[in-house]
Amino acid sequence: MTTSKPRILTGDTPTGQLHLGHLVGSLESRVALQDEYDCYFLIANMHAYTTRADKPEGIRQSTMDIVKDWLAVGMDPERSVFVLQTEVPAIAELTWFFAMLLPFNRVMKNPTLKTEIKDKDLGDTYSFGFPMYAVGQCADILSFRPQLVPVGEDQVAHIEMCREAARRFNQVYCGVDPHAEDHEHESLGGVFPIPEAKVGRVGRLVGTDGKQKMSKSLNNAIFLTDTFKQIKKKMGQLYTGRQSLDEPGDIDNALFDYVRAFIRDEARVKELETKYAAGDNIGDGHIKVEVAEAIDQLLEPVRAKRAELDGDKGDAIVLDILRDHANKANAVAEETLARAKAAMKLDLIQRELSFPR
Ligand code: ATP
Ligand code: MG
Repeated sequence: MTTSKPRILTGDTPTGQLHLGHLVGSLESRVALQDEYDCYFLIANMHAYTTRADKPEGIRQSTMDIVKDWLAVGMDPERSVFVLQTEVPAIAELTWFFAMLLPFNRVMKNPTLKTEIKDKDLGDTYSFGFPMYAVGQCADILSFRPQLVPVGEDQVAHIEMCREAARRFNQVYCGVDPHAEDHEHESLGGVFPIPEAKVGRVGRLVGTDGKQKMSKSLNNAIFLTDTFKQIKKKMGQLYTGRQSLDEPGDIDNALFDYVRAFIRDEARVKELETKYAAGDNIGDGHIKVEVAEAIDQLLEPVRAKRAELDGDKGDAIVLDILRDHANKANAVAEETLARAKAAMKLDLIQRELSFPR
């Protein structure tokens, strides 16, 4: 696992269960890239407290659920490292250092934060820690010095800020020329690479409300563990505004985003698009059931593996992985932190961390 392969860092916040948006936005890429890259997958459990400080039990439960979902979709603990954010202290320490390099107004203007404040109804009473998570995410990523970050579209603004933090650190503390190209930073002595975002095959899957991004916090998600009955019911709620079978339909509506995302037979997708656009005797209800069947087929093996991890036995497997991998994660993150501290003239004394097996 400590090979010379390029690295990936990405992850999820334990604010609920994983859904179809995660699958097509990020999980599929993670599974596909596990051989080519040295992968670090992070559970951002500290960040879950930024909106759920009063729900510690829920965060703990979601942490277990998400790791089980990861295993069920094929993220492989033999090849990749699962990182529990709270047990990697270097991340919190680097968050402080990056907070000093990013202007306050720059953080607050981050478009993803603004959208989240609106969509999650956070008003003006969100915690100080909430915008801080965007800085923390720079540290999550850069602690592992990755080349690539597979994410959904909503995260691209965060990755851009992370790239700025890395450039700034390298310029201020490592003497990298401000005109250097991104790919030159490490060879010019920078501690951090300038990582790139890789958006999955569907960058933004709309929720079953037909409007907002599918999100575990917005009550508009089809979860990886949903049964066919639940999937069919949720698909049924997707509103298109179309009235009859012969009304020409808009193939750019939310329903067709689902058609293209989940019906894998290209010819059938084309046929549905043609008939729908022409209002050729095809109802939304019929298409919704066809999409629900396609989603069900996709999730069938995931649900089967997930069921094997239910209960205490599954919990023990998850905890074993997290404990074992905490050592692997800290080995890399501590090395990063030591290099960063040396660049910042903070290497007065050294330390070592370990987790008993
Ligand atoms: P929350 O509501 O708590 O923010 P979330 O559903 O947005 O939860 P995150 O944990 O924030 O999920 O996101 C994990 C990863 O999944 C990120 O890379 C994000 O871009 C991606 N992702 C989340 N929702 C979608 C979606 N609807 N379409 C595509 N990618 C998504
Ligand atoms: Mg999110």
